Amino acid sequence: MHTYDAPSNALENKVILVTGAGDGIGRVAAINYAKHGATVILLGKTTSKLEAVYDEIVAAGYPQPAIVPLDLKGATKQHYRDLAATIEQQFGKLDGLLNNASILGTMGPLEHFCVSTFENVMKVNVTGQAMITRFLFPLLRKAPKASIIFTSSGVGRQGREFWGAYAISKFATEGMMQTWAAEVGKTDIRVNCINPGATRTSMRATAFPGEDADRLKTAEDLMPTYLYLMSDDSADVNGQSIDAQPK
Ligand code: NDP
Repeated sequence: MHTYDAPSNALENKVILVTGAGDGIGRVAAINYAKHGATVILLGKTTSKLEAVYDEIVAAGYPQPAIVPLDLKGATKQHYRDLAATIEQQFGKLDGLLNNASILGTMGPLEHFCVSTFENVMKVNVTGQAMITRFLFPLLRKAPKASIIFTSSGVGRQGREFWGAYAISKFATEGMMQTWAAEVGKTDIRVNCINPGATRTSMRATAFPGEDADRLKTAEDLMPTYLYLMSDDSADVNGQSIDAQPK
């Protein structure tokens, strides 16, 4: 799938919601999904960033997207219910959900973790993804072959020192994906994880400030995997945690 060459109409007639669509990998995924025919719902914290992505998609002549400014940290059940009602009204179904938004929190020894930072990381990276998936699930059921993608990390598979709440949240993400995947196993919905690997974004620059970012893969380099898992070509893939970068 690292070499997947998506046909230009691979996502035609699909409605795909991307969290964290204003920046980094989510931004590039949203633009690529639109480029391949999807109507993309751009969800994120900073409205101006979402508007810039919206403009880019419209200027390129791709299907007109929608914008949903929402802070996953403070979002309540009612926010997600309202979101589901709006999508139902406008589109009647949801074909794809890319759970991409995350925060790094503060790196450091668990012995000294800051409780409020820990709680915020869990709210955005775990509770937010769990709630949006739960409340949008009825709409995903209405699509013929829906795909849910969670975003994992190497530190969510093997514990590594000083990655703190972020690493714990990514282990939870892997568990959330596996639990969903087991439950949807006999339906037309599939649930998988992508581990992007080291990618040139502002989150990576925060975690590795001294690194030469030019040596990293870009979000664009990861897109074959992001497109593959959203397209019907992956209809039989469920419960997998997939590296977006070749070994
Ligand atoms: P960025 O920090 O570049 O982008 C994160 C996005 O999430 C931004 O659009 C941001 O919006 C949004 N976001 C953050 N907090 C919230 C919130 N409370 N509510 C709504 N949206 C929010 O991260 P990356 O693109 O690097 O990471 C994307 C995913 O990939 C994450 O899940 C990350 O853990 C994972 N990952 C990344 C790796 C890398 O090397 N880059 C490696 C492994 C995993 P805003 O800009 O408005 O704050």
